[in-house]
Amino acid sequence: MTFKPQDFFRPEMLAETAYPVPSAAGMIKLDAMENPYDWPETMIQAWLDHLRRARPNRYPDPKAPTLKAALRDYAGVPEEADILLGNGSDEIIQILLLALVGQPQAAVMAPEPTFVMYRQIARWLNLDFIGVPLKSDFHLDRDAMLAAVDRHRPKVVFLAYPNNPTGNLFDENTISEIIRRTPGLVVLDEAYAPFARSTWMDRIGEFSNLLVMRTLSKLGLAGLRLGFLAGNPEWLEQFEKLRLPYNINVLTQLTAEFALSQGELFEQQTSRIRIDRETLSTELGKLPCVESFPSAANFILFRAAEADRVFTALRQQGILIKNLNPAGGLLRDCLRVTVGTPEENRAFLAALRAAVAH
Ligand SMILES: *Cc1c(COP(=O)(O)O)cnc(C)c1O
Repeated sequence: MTFKPQDFFRPEMLAETAYPVPSAAGMIKLDAMENPYDWPETMIQAWLDHLRRARPNRYPDPKAPTLKAALRDYAGVPEEADILLGNGSDEIIQILLLALVGQPQAAVMAPEPTFVMYRQIARWLNLDFIGVPLKSDFHLDRDAMLAAVDRHRPKVVFLAYPNNPTGNLFDENTISEIIRRTPGLVVLDEAYAPFARSTWMDRIGEFSNLLVMRTLSKLGLAGLRLGFLAGNPEWLEQFEKLRLPYNINVLTQLTAEFALSQGELFEQQTSRIRIDRETLSTELGKLPCVESFPSAANFILFRAAEADRVFTALRQQGILIKNLNPAGGLLRDCLRVTVGTPEENRAFLAALRAAVAH
């Protein structure tokens, strides 16, 4: 073979490692912010009945009006805003950044540590990514953010609200200042909205450059891959051109419509998770050598001495969480645990107590 991958890919791409998804076979899986609750049997029956109307021989409806109406209702999307659908919000990030390819000096900005896909996708697309460090308490460094906005004049700023992996909600006034000061778009990524007490959805009309991104993944539909962006129709009309026309498949559309009609069940599950988050946080607070951080999401970030060893000890006890120590910086010695069922949380705490007592 004379033509090799080395001749095809940029050196940065060859140096990349594929997104690591560790095997969780047989383990208590608390690493990926999934909703731990399965559907009741009666609901599964009703869902399968609903799916009977699927026509797999036909392409899905690219406009998906029924689904969009259900999402609008569920998420309180204001009337003046439109909706763009993505195969997960990951795909929406990709669509947003795709629009910048080939534009000179198109910087993308986010505070860090944050959701890694903003930087990752920017890098794939060869865009300039500016990461502005959060303060040591994981809040926005207002002055540093505003200075970076003035200096780099970013086309897009991503703010995860609540932030992943830190779990906190950034200060509202600082966000408003950033939105006003940014010459480009500001995307509020509200992936954890079902667990937070606050949203920017109802403020879209207040700012011409504000977009709000949501996903059904953390609510309890991670397997469907459905995310959406809400914002001013003038903007969404342009991004719509970069969306692959059939990105939301027939089964996802029908399943999401069905699930959104079962709002009460999801409200029960998410309120259970919010309550269990507080219990978990209290219990973590009682452990010596563990510092846990406040969370408005369905996970908790905590710092433990010898995080790598603690992570491995948990895994040996059948508990999979996320080790953030390799990221370094502010995340040194940090681990992230997803809130599971009460039984899973107890098993995690028992394993953690054993690990830190070592
Ligand atoms: C999980 C997560 C997403 C990705 O959501 P998908 O819709 O599953 O692609 C986006 N943003 C943040 C901050 C997340 O934590």
